[in-house]
Amino acid sequence: MKRSAVLLAAVVALTVCLGAQGQTGHKVLISVDMEGIWGVVQGEQTSPDGRDYGLARKWMAEDVNAVIAGLLEAGATEIVVNDSHGSMRNIVASDLDPAATLISGTPKAFSMMEGLDAACEAVLFVGYHARAGTEAAVLDHTISGGTLRAVKINGREMPELGINGALAGAFGVPVIMLSGDDKTCAQAKAVLGEALVTVAVKDGLGRTSARLLPKDEARRRLKEGAKEAFLKRKQVAPFKLSVPLSFELEFHNSGQAELPLFIPGVKRTGARSVAFSADEFIEGYKLMRALIALASS
Ligand SMILES: [Zn+2]
Repeated sequence: MKRSAVLLAAVVALTVCLGAQGQTGHKVLISVDMEGIWGVVQGEQTSPDGRDYGLARKWMAEDVNAVIAGLLEAGATEIVVNDSHGSMRNIVASDLDPAATLISGTPKAFSMMEGLDAACEAVLFVGYHARAGTEAAVLDHTISGGTLRAVKINGREMPELGINGALAGAFGVPVIMLSGDDKTCAQAKAVLGEALVTVAVKDGLGRTSARLLPKDEARRRLKEGAKEAFLKRKQVAPFKLSVPLSFELEFHNSGQAELPLFIPGVKRTGARSVAFSADEFIEGYKLMRALIALASS
């Protein structure tokens, strides 16, 4: 090929490439936790050294793959899956639908929400669980079961789905779908709004028991829910909290409140609780995570 022809070909290729990303790209982020995955009812199933963990991580990939199938049918073109549980190395990469990319491992700046940016059109929460202190909800906790009793933001107790939803909101991105048990689905609608599509793959009977949907029916609902949610994504408003923000962390014991107090601006509000304020959510989110890390150390 002549030099001018090579140049022309390069320009055409670049234009096509930009067009594909800039005009037709529909990027979504799936944050996937484990406690709300179909089949999971007990902590052993969500711990790498526990019985049935090998099965549970397969179920995790199957729940996500059903959601990916629905998103693809609805027109999503770029799907990022962020493994968001524990070590964040639960999904076996080779089990994930190759139409999606996987973010695996920890630590990550945005933890359960790594991969989030303003280019995302929507976020989906798969396998999520209810906040600490929710009755008949499978493996209810907030961020760290051994450290935190509660996270309050602007005076309201928040589940992880609310904290992560507000982080998405800070980027102007709506949360369009959540799956988990029935209590988590109800909590999600109460916090994020009725426009959210929820898929309950099990009904919680207690903290470590649930009535499961039949497997194929659960995956069918996950696929259909994701498809429906993506098609009506523009009807869902990003979840935004009013600023300035107040954060309060209540730990399990008074010792856990001691190291967080080394950070300027952090005040004790009780024997086992600390508080701070933030001008915007991302800044508050980062400080919150640093304090939880200190409390856990
Ligand atoms: Zn988890």
